[in-house]
Amino acid sequence: MQNNLPTVTIVGAGLAGCEAAWQLVRRGIPVRLIEMKPVKYSPAHKSPGFAELVCSNSLKAEQLSNASGLLKAELRTLDSLILSCAEESRVPAGGALAVDRHLFSDKITETIKGHPLVTFESRVVDAIPEGPTIIATGPLTDPALCDAIAARTGVKALNFFDAAAPIVTADSLDMTKVFRASRYGKGTDDYLNCPMTEEEYNAFYDALMGAELAELHDFEKKLVFEGCLAVEILASRGRQTLAFGPLKPVGLIDPRTGKEPYAVVQLRQENAQGTMYNLVGFQTRLKWGEQKRVFSMIPGLENAEFVRYGVMHRNTYLNGPSILGANYAMKGDPLLRFAGQLSGVEGYMESTASGLTAAIGLACALTGKPEPDFTGRTILGALARHVTTPTPNFQPMNANFGILDPLPYKVRGKRNRYEKLSECAIETLNEVIVTYELR
Ligand SMILES: Cc1cc2nc3c(=O)[nH]c(=O)nc-3n(C[C@H](O)[C@H](O)[C@H](O)COP(=O)(O)OP(=O)(O)OC[C@H]3O[C@@H](n4cnc5c(N)ncnc54)[C@H](O)[C@@H]3O)c2cc1C
Repeated sequence: MQNNLPTVTIVGAGLAGCEAAWQLVRRGIPVRLIEMKPVKYSPAHKSPGFAELVCSNSLKAEQLSNASGLLKAELRTLDSLILSCAEESRVPAGGALAVDRHLFSDKITETIKGHPLVTFESRVVDAIPEGPTIIATGPLTDPALCDAIAARTGVKALNFFDAAAPIVTADSLDMTKVFRASRYGKGTDDYLNCPMTEEEYNAFYDALMGAELAELHDFEKKLVFEGCLAVEILASRGRQTLAFGPLKPVGLIDPRTGKEPYAVVQLRQENAQGTMYNLVGFQTRLKWGEQKRVFSMIPGLENAEFVRYGVMHRNTYLNGPSILGANYAMKGDPLLRFAGQLSGVEGYMESTASGLTAAIGLACALTGKPEPDFTGRTILGALARHVTTPTPNFQPMNANFGILDPLPYKVRGKRNRYEKLSECAIETLNEVIVTYELR
């Protein structure tokens, strides 16, 4: 114990763990950071430094008309270490923030390791540490720790594989083509239905069969094989398999024709606000560009905005809604928090964001201050809310405007609306900072 404040143990020196460590030490709270590299490497990690980017070196868009840009603005407002090191190691990438990954990792490693309030241990953690702790061990958390987390939270709380269908925003759908109905008119009209003619179905089928698949890492091959069936695999069983399976039109009458269409793609509401919908049965391993090209052929989705593409990959994450509360704290144990991809967010900057939020929440809990409510009007708050909101099939989420509370007034044009949402988010964040004295 230093400064009369207890030491926080952080497990994992990835993006979330390093950001969490920074947010704690800049508030005077000592940190013990434990990282298994270089003693042991996950199947995707290769270098000994902290905050290793395991794949792309892009941290996505910077403009405020993009949700990734808004997330960066919010992180900057709260003095994020990951963001400032990224800006100092940037390489040219148009409107995106891309980095020299080695320089980026070196800067973060030096800052964290060199901080007087940080002690560092290199070892594999196989049990949940005692005392205030943030676990940020990422999508490839070492198996022994997974077992310990499953034992503490219940086995059903931990997922090891992500097989998700794409999600689109409601306001990007062409509602002159899409109709709301439930099959045979049973229950409430919960689904949006995209009707296809035979010609449209055949053109879509041919495009799907010719589309390119994303590469699999060796360690993912067995999992994908055992995971749930991708739409392209189902389609490869025969031209009519989808029309008799997830795209079956029976019991769905298109009010514009008074008939059952040849095939129907159903969209299911994704969030309570009704701003996002997922494509039912469309778990897929198509490359992201291919998903945009092929799924935009579905009537009504011609200009759809994809806020999350379908994925099938190894991804360890908690079923947040059953075990997490505000600011990524374990329900009933505010001194234990989860952060990063493991907590149910998706992406480099989102993992950073959850590390920041979890650490600020924990810092408040340790210093006897009320924990901030970032609200659903900021991306930081909306991501934290996502991981605690019960949904039938909880999936990790990246930053997008669909998870924010909608504006209470109408704004014409998508770009204008997004800029307004960003403006409102930054205003809200500044109010939260003042209210909870977060600087
Ligand atoms: C193959 C792959 C490719 C990806 N590509 C992208 C991409 O291009 N863009 C994107 O935005 N996101 C990508 N992601 C998601 C990406 O992992 C996360 O966005 C981000 O790295 C997660 O940050 P994190 O801090 O949660 O975990 P990580 O950055 O993975 O950090 C976790 C750290 O914990 C350590 N650790 C694990 N278990 C233990 C243990 N038991 N004891 C001690 N230390 C432990 C690990 O060694 C690691 O350093 C990819 C993920 C994978 C697996």
